[in-house]
Formats: sequence, C-alpha cells, structure tokens
Amino acid sequence: MVGRTPMVGRTPMVGRTPMVGRTPAVSLVPASPDADAVARDLAIDLGTANTLVYARGEGVVLAEPSVIAINERSGEVLAMGDEAWHMIGRTPEHVVAKRPLRKGAITDFEVTQRMVRLLLERVGVSRFNRPKVLICVPSAITAVERRAVTEAARRAGAADAQLIEQPLAAAIGANLPISEPVGNMVVDIGGGTSESALLSLGGVVALEAVRVGSFDIDSAIQAYVRREYGLAIGERTAEEIKWTIGSAASTPDEGRAEVKGRELMSGLPKTVVLTPVEIRRAIEEPVVAIVESVVQCLAQAPPELAQDLMAQGICLVGGGSLLRGLDARIAEDAGVPVVPVETPMECVVLGAGHCIESFEAMRVMFMEGRR
Ligand code: ADP
Ligand code: MG
Repeated sequence: MVGRTPMVGRTPMVGRTPMVGRTPAVSLVPASPDADAVARDLAIDLGTANTLVYARGEGVVLAEPSVIAINERSGEVLAMGDEAWHMIGRTPEHVVAKRPLRKGAITDFEVTQRMVRLLLERVGVSRFNRPKVLICVPSAITAVERRAVTEAARRAGAADAQLIEQPLAAAIGANLPISEPVGNMVVDIGGGTSESALLSLGGVVALEAVRVGSFDIDSAIQAYVRREYGLAIGERTAEEIKWTIGSAASTPDEGRAEVKGRELMSGLPKTVVLTPVEIRRAIEEPVVAIVESVVQCLAQAPPELAQDLMAQGICLVGGGSLLRGLDARIAEDAGVPVVPVETPMECVVLGAGHCIESFEAMRVMFMEGRR
C-alpha cells in the first residue's frame, strides 16, 4: 500500500479541464501597475522626417513624423508625432512645431532629448520597464552627436543604448548579403539627408552623405511658386505637390495639379494650375545634388566591388526615393541598375529590429562594438 495514500484534500490532476465560466479564487496581483510588463527591447529609426519604433517580438509599433510642438513661453512640450505635425504652420506665435533632426544633425539637444523621452513613454517605457534600445543614426554623425543621442535615450529610461549606422541597418532590412565579401550599395534618401554607402563584409567601405534630401525638394517647389506666381504656399502644400505631380524624369500619364495659396501682392487666396514639367525644372537642383552624391560614392568603390555592383544593383530606400523617375535617373547617371525594395520607408527600422531580435549576437554591427 506504500505510496497509495488517499487523495485527501486533493483533486486529481487527470482531466484538468479549462475553467470555463469560472474565475479563479486566487490570482496574482502585480506589485505595481507596471511590474508585470517585461521590458521590450526596441529599435528606433530617428529619421529627419519620420520616427519609427520596432519592438522585439512584435514588429513596428510606431511610425510618426519627427515633429514636436513646444510652448516657448513655458518650455512645455504640447505634442509630438502626428499631432504635432498637424500644427505645422498653424500655431500661435509662442507655440512652435519643430523638426529637431531636420538636417540629420542634433542641432537642438534639449528638444531631441524631450522627443526621445516622449517616444519611449509612448511605447510603454517606464521606471519599471527599462529596455535595451538600438538607435539608427547617420554614418556621418559626429562623436559629440553620438554621445548626445545615447545620453538622451539613457536619460529617457533605456537600460542600454546602442547605435547602428543607418545604411548598415537598411542593408540588413533589405536582406542584402552584407557579411559576404561582395559589394552591396544602399542609397537612403530621407527628408534632410541622402546617404550612399558601399558595404562589404559587414562594414562600410565607402560613404557619401549630403545634407540634401526630400525636404529640399519641397523648399524648391515653395520658392518656385512664390517666384513664378507670386503665391505663398506652406511646406505641407509643397510636399503634396511633390507627391502628386513631382518627378525627376518624365513619366507616362502626367497630370496637372491645382494649388491654392495666398497671393503675396493682395494677401488674398488664389488658385494656380501647375504642370509636372515646370515642377521638374523647379526641383532640378536638389535632384542633381542627390544623384551626384550617389555617383561620388560609386567613384570611391575599389574596382572589384564596382564590378559586383553591376550585377547586384543599387538598393534605393527612404521616402525620398519614392519620387517618380528618381530610380531611372540614378540608374542612368550612375550606370548601375537600381533594384527596388519592398518597404523603402521601413527598411532601416526593420534591419535594426532584426539586430535586436538577437541583440548580443549582432553586437558586432553596432557602432560601439566596432571600435
Ligand atoms: P527620414 O529617414 O529622413 O525620416 P523618410 O525616409 O521617412 O525620411 O522619408 C521622408 C521623406 O520622403 C519626406 O520628405 C516625404 O515627403 C518623402 N516622401 C514620402 N513619400 C513620397 C512619395 N511618394 N514621393 C515623393 N516623396 C515622398
Ligand atoms: Mg531614414
């Protein structure tokens, strides 16, 4: 009879049925509202135009404009992201909607730090939940800027803040065989910057970064409409013109755009009709600057790697690369085929996200790990 004790006070384990319709009598109460939240490691693409956040095991959890609205009298942050973007050009005098990373540099550390803090709050980072954070930065970033970004993330609650170069992240996101001894080229055209990088064996072999991007195309459109038609338009209207009829080379079925603005002379609303041809002319200067920087990067390529590129092609990423005809223009001027990627605006954050899925193994790719 050894071991065959009657099951006094015990229920048999066999036939454990789900407790349908029953609530357990005892349940665990977390020590604090946040204590049950496991820190989710994060990858952040702090772009000049858009900020994207990828949470480990989840994917992209936030994608919003890199804009912050501040009350300059009190220093209070009123809004960030989508909400702040809607305020651009519509704020009273003491409220400013800023793009703190506009030219790809940390020009305003205070504001950048507030933005990072808000961003981390938005995705659930708190005192109880301190994730490891991997931030994508331009390759050309200075040592001072590098420290500023990691410091901002640490102060905002990150347990560990590491940096990865944007072109490297983009190449990983585009599934390029970057660890092989084969040349791959990535061109990332963002709002304020355009970066071309030639990669091989997991490193950047040649780099050409210019502080010219898709924002400069908007500005060129704004300036043209003002000069030619005496009409003032906002930067958001200029951006819409770029999306609807902007192009870097002629394309079939080109339509016109009707644009409303304020006439400079009279101060009254006025409508004009713009053609794709005149917009193409108006944006030629920034387009040439972008294409030129790609060509400059290629010119630095050692012969073997240049050969590889003829076969592999150039990967175009970033929102700026979506300008119609820009791919054709780059392919023609660089003499190298251009290959499209599936998600040009998410490529960088997806690549960094891939790195945080195996944080320790991918440490060699981080800026610190490479020194
Ligand atoms: P960043 O990495 O600097 O934040 P993004 O890669 O997010 O920049 O690209 C943002 C830029 O892409 C904006 O200036 C936006 O106007 C431009 N853009 C987005 N979609 C298009 C499009 N379809 N055609 C032309 N430009 C576009
Ligand atoms: Mg970017």
